[in-house]
Amino acid sequence: MLGSKIAWDDTVLPFQLDKSDVRGRVARLDGVLENVLMQHDYPPAIEALVAEVALLTAMIGQTIKLRWKLSIQIRNDGPARLIATDYYAPTADGKPARIRAYASYDKERLQEDGDAYDNVGNGYFAILIDQGEGMKPYQGITPLTGSSLSNCAENYFAQSEQLPTRFELSFGRSTLSGEDEKWRAGGVMLQKMPKASPSVAPVENEAADGVLKAEDILSEDDFENWNRANILLDSVDSLELIGPSVQPTQLLTRLFHEDQPRVFDAQSVAFGCSCSEASVRNSLSIYSAKDIKTMTTDAGVVSADCQFCGMHYEMDPETLGFEAKAGPDGRSA
Ligand SMILES: [Zn+2]
Repeated sequence: MLGSKIAWDDTVLPFQLDKSDVRGRVARLDGVLENVLMQHDYPPAIEALVAEVALLTAMIGQTIKLRWKLSIQIRNDGPARLIATDYYAPTADGKPARIRAYASYDKERLQEDGDAYDNVGNGYFAILIDQGEGMKPYQGITPLTGSSLSNCAENYFAQSEQLPTRFELSFGRSTLSGEDEKWRAGGVMLQKMPKASPSVAPVENEAADGVLKAEDILSEDDFENWNRANILLDSVDSLELIGPSVQPTQLLTRLFHEDQPRVFDAQSVAFGCSCSEASVRNSLSIYSAKDIKTMTTDAGVVSADCQFCGMHYEMDPETLGFEAKAGPDGRSA
């Protein structure tokens, strides 16, 4: 087994607890996370926040009927100003979904001691869904609240979708004997099954502090089932979440055997970026020749680096902007 890929690495396994009317995901990320973080040179606290959001993204992205892209953005006034991830749906059955991520942070204010979440201030948690060309993008936003980014995601689903949701995650650098230290992450997501017709929480149940909890949203029976599934999940420990000795299917059996969990096909995930020279050219097409001139380096090129994967692009200024004198191939436009 040493040195070889462990069977459940970089996968999201969907499951359902029919008796409790709860659906869920078990996710493991390791190679993906290494690849995402390798593109950057982030301090450990930022790496931890990016790892957490990447894991949330893998689980949330896989629950959505997605044709193109789901993005998560955490914007705030703390030192960890922005954490952004994208999840691209698989292009065909059997193909991996792709994930990319980056963070923008304030080095001077960053606090490395203590919890990484201390670096997240006031702000919001946003999910954006882009179903591709010709489709109207969807955006949901909720304020950041709780003591972790997972809490913020739980709050997002309660407020924005009226769907009680729970994330139990574990992530960090770890070592398997004989191997280098690597990033590993694993988690379980539980979510109340969405009703066929979306039900909105009645006003009289609205929480006093404005934060909706499961008991504000669900009927008594539903809440009892939801609570039971959560109590079963409480017994999980971080080694079971991260693996590799416990397989996700074994974990589900251990946690939820009374509910006879049903599992579906696992989705593999990989690191992937969608950037291209064409997309960089397109984003520069709004600029005039004068603007393009101010972006031109002494070497006579306009350069751009992809924030997600670090890809470096260099282009001839004559070929850029809406007043371009030549096409990308250098010939007169
Ligand atoms: Zn890129």
